[in-house]
Amino acid sequence: MAPDPVTTDDEALFVPVVTGGALPDPRLLPASPVTRFAPAPTGQLHLGHLVNVLYVWGIARATGGRVILRIEDHDRQRSRPEHEWSILEDLERLGVTPDEPALVAFNGDTPYRQSDAGDVYAAAVARLRADGLVYACDCARSTFERYEAERGRPFRGIGCPGDCRSRQLPEDGDVGLRVAIGAGSERWVDLLVGPMGDEPAASGDLLVRDRVVNWTYALCVVVDDLRHGVDLVIRGRDLLEATPGQLRLATLLGRDTQPRFLHHPLIRRVSGQKLSKAEGDTAIRQLLDEGRTPAELFGLAARLAGVRDTDGPIDPGDLATLFLPA
Ligand SMILES: [Zn+2]
Repeated sequence: MAPDPVTTDDEALFVPVVTGGALPDPRLLPASPVTRFAPAPTGQLHLGHLVNVLYVWGIARATGGRVILRIEDHDRQRSRPEHEWSILEDLERLGVTPDEPALVAFNGDTPYRQSDAGDVYAAAVARLRADGLVYACDCARSTFERYEAERGRPFRGIGCPGDCRSRQLPEDGDVGLRVAIGAGSERWVDLLVGPMGDEPAASGDLLVRDRVVNWTYALCVVVDDLRHGVDLVIRGRDLLEATPGQLRLATLLGRDTQPRFLHHPLIRRVSGQKLSKAEGDTAIRQLLDEGRTPAELFGLAARLAGVRDTDGPIDPGDLATLFLPA
């Protein structure tokens, strides 16, 4: 079947969600930042990832920064080597190259992987435990839901709804591990959204190890950004609410300088659902196989994210131009 042109079908499928702007003020962008592209190998890259690629590489190249590639495979049950391979191959086909590790897919080097760093996460949790901040928690999702049903509001507060910290459960049972992140607000400036502030405890203490003994996303992402020296976090707006808890955790782990954040718009289906990796019709691999060029796909991503009004092609080598002063 001949490929459709990148026009009306895509218009019908996706709407850009643009709040607080899609383009950062070039004067606010830090010089020579270290940023990262950090996909989870639980599926193929899709158009939502491509928006992130556009921001990450575009801003890094516009500012003399560096891009670290990190495979976020902390979820051992859902991560697959074939998805990691597919991600690396898609990036190569798209014509974007990470600066670190010197890559990759076909010369025997490997990207940073969370599954290779279990001892680093364990050491971080040991540090927090030594500070008396780690406790076992046997609250299931249903415990949170019951709390919410009984009080007519989500759990907001210190600890967890089951008050597990005071129960001092053994860590080797069917439990997760939480870190007591304390009261008070965290404030930061998002390069797109503006000044922000919220309480890390808004959704309870942070889960750092789940009940099937996976280190969680919240722990891994904070530890990784620390050890990799990431000072500009560029990610989708769905993670905005996670930021205060992650800032607090970084502080507890000894970070004295906040990274900068840029939470970019997401693209969604008209139905309002977030794009999912399981949705093969948005897979970058499929779109490339159908004959669409990387430049066409970057042009489409730029329009869907609200970075541009038109979806004319953008060569991968020209992504910086989107973020340079006019
Ligand atoms: Zn609990």
